[in-house]
Amino acid sequence: MQKVIKVDSATFERMKKVYSTNTSLPPGAAFRMKGSRVVVTGYTKSKKVMFQGAAVDEEARRWDAAQFVSNQQPAAHHQDNDLPAGFSSWSVLGSDEVGTGSYFGPLTVAAVYVAADQVEPITQLGVRDSKTLTDPEIIKLAKKITATCPYHIVNLNPRIYNDKIKGRSQAALKALCHNLALSKVLAQLQPQVPDAILIDQFEQPRTYFRHLQGQPMVIRNHVYFRIKGEQAHVAVAAASVVARAYSLKMMDQLSEQAGMTLPIGANHLVDEVAAKLIRRGRDLRDFAKLHFANTQKAQQLAER
Ligand code: MN
Repeated sequence: MQKVIKVDSATFERMKKVYSTNTSLPPGAAFRMKGSRVVVTGYTKSKKVMFQGAAVDEEARRWDAAQFVSNQQPAAHHQDNDLPAGFSSWSVLGSDEVGTGSYFGPLTVAAVYVAADQVEPITQLGVRDSKTLTDPEIIKLAKKITATCPYHIVNLNPRIYNDKIKGRSQAALKALCHNLALSKVLAQLQPQVPDAILIDQFEQPRTYFRHLQGQPMVIRNHVYFRIKGEQAHVAVAAASVVARAYSLKMMDQLSEQAGMTLPIGANHLVDEVAAKLIRRGRDLRDFAKLHFANTQKAQQLAER
């Protein structure tokens, strides 16, 4: 099997980095990488790249500026532990969510695009997993990220969340939110396309795509999943920060609406605060994720 594609100079340079030469170069070639399932040769003058071997289509597909959207069943996404060399310096659209483990507050998913030339500056800002940052740091960083990177936030406040989760698992709802956030950023970027999409993995890719069956638009191609995705590309860290900052803002608003500070998490303090809301005749549906076991505990506390 053999396939030749013509690429632009920027892509050619990126390919040169990814396919570091490990065999003898034919005349006129800038790089040649011999892998177990594919040999990739890039020609300097023509910017043509030749793929040979069993994995031709799979490998060449990484580089065409084609469709990310596909409803075709043979999933073109990539398995975990399959990130190509040099991935962390690619132009990547990353997504992450916050709020799934917290009884009070929204589920917030953010997708952020970090172009190759933004990887270094965004990393230098100190962007990393939001769990390791303080709230003021998160808010400051989110402002900087959203000022330079295309992004989209899907936020489900409790009332909407409680409605949308009916008949679904939380993972299924998360999948819908990730897919929506990613599709919004891809639309913003057009005609530009990312080298890849990286989702901070919360379940098996196969299950993720099963949740999306029947959706009018499924972002499937060039999609990678990674546990601790923020370590694989700064775009996921950036998405984590942007989602967290938005979630904090929503928590403030909900706390104000509730007339008391709503804690994050799902511990006993959360039950106490929820019980207090019930005693004051407030509807928990507006503030909390009702399917959590905290709802029953709070009701028992309130009746005492
Ligand atoms: Mn995550």
